[in-house]
Amino acid sequence: MTSRNLPAKPASVPGQQMLIGGQWRPSVSGKTFETFDPATGRKICDVAEGDKADIDLAVAAARSAFETGPWRRMSASERGRILYRLADLVESHKEELAALESLDNGKPVRDSLAADLPLTIKCYRYYAGWADKIQGRTIPVDGDYFCYTRHEPVGVVGQVIPWNFPLLMQAWKWGPALASGCTLVLKPAEQTPLTALRIARLAQEAGVPDGVINVVPGFGPTAGAALTGHMDVDKVAFTGEHTTGRLVMEAAARSNLKRVSLELGGKSPNIIFADADLDAAIEGAYFGLFFNQGQCCCAGSRLFVEERVHDEVVARLVERSKSSRVGDPFHPGTTQGPQVSREQQERVLRYIGAGQREGARLLTGGKAPQGEGFFVEPTVFDQVRDDMTIAREEIFGPVMNVLSFKDIDEVIRRGNETMFGLAAAVWTRDIRKANRVAHELRAGTVWVNCYDVFDAAAPFGGFKMSGIGRELGEYALQLYTEVKTVTVAGG
Ligand code: ADP
Repeated sequence: MTSRNLPAKPASVPGQQMLIGGQWRPSVSGKTFETFDPATGRKICDVAEGDKADIDLAVAAARSAFETGPWRRMSASERGRILYRLADLVESHKEELAALESLDNGKPVRDSLAADLPLTIKCYRYYAGWADKIQGRTIPVDGDYFCYTRHEPVGVVGQVIPWNFPLLMQAWKWGPALASGCTLVLKPAEQTPLTALRIARLAQEAGVPDGVINVVPGFGPTAGAALTGHMDVDKVAFTGEHTTGRLVMEAAARSNLKRVSLELGGKSPNIIFADADLDAAIEGAYFGLFFNQGQCCCAGSRLFVEERVHDEVVARLVERSKSSRVGDPFHPGTTQGPQVSREQQERVLRYIGAGQREGARLLTGGKAPQGEGFFVEPTVFDQVRDDMTIAREEIFGPVMNVLSFKDIDEVIRRGNETMFGLAAAVWTRDIRKANRVAHELRAGTVWVNCYDVFDAAAPFGGFKMSGIGRELGEYALQLYTEVKTVTVAGG
């Protein structure tokens, strides 16, 4: 632990293998790839690079564990106990995991410890509780029959996750899949494979049987595509960009019509009415955009401010963003770390360039600070128009776009003028206004007078091109179960 009881940066991390059928092993090809520390740009370690041959082995292991292993057949409460043990193990290793997450991803370790770890632990614990509560119904059918449904595990699941919340996205995927009795193959993002592999070891320690969990690190077009297009995978769950989501759906369609759930991008409207508690709204707007270096699919990246309070809100937001401390994720005062990679840093800077070229007014930030690492200054644009690139496309970086509006009809219409529908927020003291906006915006989550409030029990997912299906809560169990109807004569 360093000062203020934060975990220290790990001095070194050994090379990493992949987990297939309970065995830690190198890739079939022997290839490895490097994972980098985004705060310095330096290599952390080599990681086994999976490809089709490794995915084939992992899927075969998951299939055999599903068909003949104990996982699906053990009593549901015992599966729950194993998941509770996993939650406890994640909790007792939370400092180590927070440090590893921050090293690989770049997020301030203070945030890893305060947000990512508690949410991850709660997610495993929440689904541990579901394991023995997944149940069907009895149905009153006509005639002399007894009819009931069983909610059975969907089978072998392929899961592909992104780099922005590696631990949490893994928990969102593993919790409901494991509680339902599925077996799985996970491909973590190539930028951030380390915590997925560490959690896999903890799952072994918790007593998850061999082959139930398989982790194959590697790249999207190789390992990812092999998994999503595999003929023996029953369901694929993906979180990432909508363009990749399209490839995942195509691969599913072209192979075995496997079930698909997608959690994709967003361009979420965050709406501040003049009658709002402006202190709370400004803090919520700041947090809703800059949290996690702006790398949130639900980031409030279109900030609509009612004209009457526009100047005040913008001035205070600029002040607030100037108070950000950008730097070393392991420094206790840091509020913003680097972007995850050079590629992401360059992409964000390209969007900032587009904003300037298209006539938005840059009020603060806009550059990469001097020195090593993939940092981008907290950036605020005012006078953004709906047709500008920065108002339409997902930037995934610390770039706030302020648009102004006059009335509620206008802001609902403009808020909905996007291909995405992941999240939205509204700030007002008028409950009628809040309800109207919450009901009329086409988004999977609407926050009223708050932002980024997540809970393992509350479903999350997108309308429109933000995805298919809902993760978290009871709803996520639907993604990992098949409903079987059993009709018995003489009931
Ligand atoms: P980003 O561009 O922000 O990294 P992606 O959607 O490309 O977002 O990445 C999310 C996850 O999808 C990563 O694990 C990545 O390796 C994976 N991925 C990328 N391309 C494909 C693909 N063609 N098929 C399956 N997975 C992919």
